[in-house]
Amino acid sequence: MTVKEILESLDWGPAPESDKFAREWLDQHGPSFGMYINGQWVTPESGDNFESFNPATGELLGTISQAGESDVNSAVAAARAALPSWSSSPGHVRARYLYAIARQVQKHHRLLAVIETLDNGKPIRETRDADVPLVARHFYHHAGWAQLFDETFPGYEPVGVCGQVIPWNFPLLMLAWKIAPALAAGNTVVLKPAEFTSISALVFAEICNSVGLPPGVVNIVTGDGKTGALITEHDDIDKVAFTGSTEVGRIIRKATAGSGKALTLELGGKSPFIVFEDADIDSAIEGLVNAIWFNQGQVCCAGSRLLVQESIAERFHEKLRSRMAKLRIGNPMNKAIDMGAIVDESQRKTIEDMCKLGCDEGGEMWQPSTELPEQGCFFPPTLFTNVSPSSTIVQEEVFGPVLVSLTFRNHKEAISLANNTRYGLAGSVWSQDIDTALEVARYIRAGAIWVNCTNQFDANAGFGGYRESGFGREGGREGMYAYMRPLSSETKTGNSDVKGKQKPSTESSTSSGAESVDRTAKMYIGGKQKRPDGGYTMDVTGPDGTVGQVGRGNRKDIRDAVEAASGATKWATTNAHTRSQILYYIAENLEQRSAEFATRISAMTGLTTEAAESEVADAVSEWFRWAAWADKYDGAVHETTMHGLVLALNEPLGVVGVTCPDESPLCGFTRLVAPLLAMGNSVIAVPSQSNPLAATDLYQVLETSDLPAGVLNIVTGIHSEFVPALASHDGVDSMWVGTGDVDEVQIASVSNMKRVWKVNMDASGDEFLRQSTHVKNIWLPHGV
Ligand code: NAD
Ligand code: MN
Repeated sequence: MTVKEILESLDWGPAPESDKFAREWLDQHGPSFGMYINGQWVTPESGDNFESFNPATGELLGTISQAGESDVNSAVAAARAALPSWSSSPGHVRARYLYAIARQVQKHHRLLAVIETLDNGKPIRETRDADVPLVARHFYHHAGWAQLFDETFPGYEPVGVCGQVIPWNFPLLMLAWKIAPALAAGNTVVLKPAEFTSISALVFAEICNSVGLPPGVVNIVTGDGKTGALITEHDDIDKVAFTGSTEVGRIIRKATAGSGKALTLELGGKSPFIVFEDADIDSAIEGLVNAIWFNQGQVCCAGSRLLVQESIAERFHEKLRSRMAKLRIGNPMNKAIDMGAIVDESQRKTIEDMCKLGCDEGGEMWQPSTELPEQGCFFPPTLFTNVSPSSTIVQEEVFGPVLVSLTFRNHKEAISLANNTRYGLAGSVWSQDIDTALEVARYIRAGAIWVNCTNQFDANAGFGGYRESGFGREGGREGMYAYMRPLSSETKTGNSDVKGKQKPSTESSTSSGAESVDRTAKMYIGGKQKRPDGGYTMDVTGPDGTVGQVGRGNRKDIRDAVEAASGATKWATTNAHTRSQILYYIAENLEQRSAEFATRISAMTGLTTEAAESEVADAVSEWFRWAAWADKYDGAVHETTMHGLVLALNEPLGVVGVTCPDESPLCGFTRLVAPLLAMGNSVIAVPSQSNPLAATDLYQVLETSDLPAGVLNIVTGIHSEFVPALASHDGVDSMWVGTGDVDEVQIASVSNMKRVWKVNMDASGDEFLRQSTHVKNIWLPHGV
């Protein structure tokens, strides 16, 4: 045997981790496990339970409680009872508890890692080196946010009782992502782990108990999806946080719509892994191994779609296959193992079925001949080539060790392939050329972009999706907002004098009413005035009769408006200075027509001339305000544990639908539309139903203000006739509800899981800007 042969055939001897302490823990607490409610260990009222297995061996680990309605009720009641004192305790006190939890997690590092591996099947190397350290880091970091809460987030308060439902792929880490920020902000929680992997959450409950966390602040109930639904649909829960499948996410989005509950969703993905010809190929291969075979590919942000530049595709695939053949698959308790077991037989079967479908649809499947363990739930690393971009295996999340590969010619094609998905969770770009890397990073629509790296996480960088990958962020300052809300305030808008229709001064009303009666305002779509599709108009009346007419919009007008707005995406990348200049210009042009606008507003609303003039002046100032903000709502550079830069960019949401209130028909319209425009969104605005002319009079202002066609579209009419069409349109990314029933909008917009904001007109500028954007984190490691 030559040295070369020895090196090639040399196998790794097994290096088993000891399970002694985990066994002792299981023996002490099992074989049937209770739940942690109100600081007590309890068994479910019904006595129902289910079994939890080690998927690598099939061994039964214990019996887990199945919480029913009364159990969930008592958990929620305990959280409710604990809320007043926990939320009003000083940040420093909450910080000390979170810090103590972090210390305990570190102290029980091995126990937690082993329990996690036994229950989930993932390699001990991962639980030991990734899951548990990140859990500790998360609690330390959020101890900090608790300490700094009052000084960092003045004007915000905790949301209340949080119902949290998590998946099985990172059981303890997902628990940490949910519980740490919730507690830091002063909320109390009821959390349900996934049914395949409940045990580490019970160890965690014991930790909460050992640090003396007040009863009811953290409640852990176990059970399956039925228990999950009992939590997410519970009347006394203020906020739901869910991580899991898009399918269940949609159920929850629907169930919570109209309930007034706050919601964040972290769902699936089909994240692109883009390799350019100038990439460091060996690093890219290792990155890819990490992207798709870490945790057996059961990762929501897995780099499951390889996009490789055509010029290097063949060589890259070859290297990839030989690397795949070297992956070691087996007992996850062995420290030398790369891939462990799939979490459950049902999940393994799903993966297998999807691969079959991939073959049936014409894809070419390749798997190395590596032997799999004889028993247990294993699936080999798998590569699909020759796939069409529209095939199921390319579009749907497999949630297993299955990679699909497509090729591209240039960066434009790479970007369009990358974005050819309804998801938007993450992306990875490999190129040694900084121009290519950053350009592509900017244009991928996803919440986390890793440049020349992958699967980077840190407590101080927000993680979360665009589009159907969900909304809300976990981690960092941006993640804290998911667990608080602006302080409820008694004070209404400064324009309360506009509320009732006041007696007009006769002078202004008669003149304006008379001269405008023959003018019918059209719609404003794609930069042009358009007749309403239905051909109907409606009267706009003031206290002295008809003031004018506007078009009566319908679904077709909405479709046209969405199409125009979707085509105006250049606005998102127009530089902030230019956007700000255009908003200033609108303000200027509006000011020049102040008198005309004031007359009109007075005729419509019955305001005195003076009050109407001040409404216009306020609107001018409002346009100035958001013009000013356009180039000042900076992102951040996060300090994380990675050596390099993490750039947090505030990116526009895309196409946003807005319904405007009757009060302050011009100024209110501006307050809703202008911040969205300032941040680079395209807008479909629905002006006040009773006072729409203030907005339609703006057409001429807009036409002379260089606002690109399609960036702002205005549809008038009877809201109930077309707002549901706007809310349900898949081309609309978000809805701001300034008037009308927010519940109806939430229900109508379930299909693409839009982020919906019930506008608070008094909210701070910061809140308006935050609601206009979502954060993309670009990870840029460096070093020579
Ligand atoms: P799932 O969405 O069914 O389960 C996630 C959690 O939701 C579990 O705790 C479950 O008990 C609970 N749940 C199920 N139905 C519920 C309901 N109606 N109401 C409230 N809670 C409910 O995910 P899964 O069955 O564990 O896995 C199925 C697929 O989900 C996977 O194949 C994968 O595609 C995807 N998934 C994604 C992630 C992610 O992080 N994005 C994590 C796990 C699974
Ligand atoms: Mn299990």
